[in-house]
Amino acid sequence: MGFSEASRVGQKILVVEDNELNLKLFCDLLRAHGFEAEPVRDGREAVARARAFGPDLVVMDIQMPWISGLELIERMKGDEELRKTPIMAVTAYAAKGDEERIRAAGAEGYVSKPISLVRFIEAVRGLLAAAAAAGEPQPVRVERSFAAPIERVFDAWIDPATLGAWLFASGQGETVRVSADPQVGGTYEIVERRDGAEWVHRGTYEAIERPTRLVFTLRVPNVSEHESRVVVAVAPDGEGTKVAVTQSLSPEAAEDREGIAREWAAMLDALARRLERGDT
Ligand code: MN
Repeated sequence: MGFSEASRVGQKILVVEDNELNLKLFCDLLRAHGFEAEPVRDGREAVARARAFGPDLVVMDIQMPWISGLELIERMKGDEELRKTPIMAVTAYAAKGDEERIRAAGAEGYVSKPISLVRFIEAVRGLLAAAAAAGEPQPVRVERSFAAPIERVFDAWIDPATLGAWLFASGQGETVRVSADPQVGGTYEIVERRDGAEWVHRGTYEAIERPTRLVFTLRVPNVSEHESRVVVAVAPDGEGTKVAVTQSLSPEAAEDREGIAREWAAMLDALARRLERGDT
């Protein structure tokens, strides 16, 4: 998601390094930045330890006894379980052609010793962010302007009395149940009966910053157990108000990105009509 932090606290990093001092330095540094670091001294254990630990990233020394980091990179990239885990190679001598060989083996990142600590952490964060961006579908984003003051537009999103008339209303069914407890940690549920079936939309309010920002989770059990997050950003727009809705998507939901964007656009149209009529 575009609005998530690049480095989540507690992300796991496996550090494979035969030099005791470097191993301690890397692990201490990573822990000081909120990561969970797992040291591996003997490269021969690296693949099994990686499978057991399930790291978000592997820091891999290249020059090691028994087995080289280059060979370990190739093994991990050939392993069904590990091939998606990004690898940052660390090498003592930046000999000509080293970086090419390391990247050809499959490493996503490369830093050479002597290592600047700032650059090391930046490289770690960069690789984790790139992996997160590649693994998560881009969120759906829909914008619309309203000819109403910002507070009225914002309040329409959390007013239990009128919410069911437009939010998650397909226009082809009847809203049969609405509950909303608009406070952080409070929940909402909107149920529409459509073609004889009940369509449930429910979630929890995560942020209510009147009148500019609303964040809530969303689950539609009829479609999937996946919980997505909806961020509603509200801003003044000339005499009126602009709203940008961003919804995170699961990989399955991402296949219907166009459909979800159309649904949001239709809901925002319905809200605009209500605001114009003074119903909301
Ligand atoms: Mn070494």
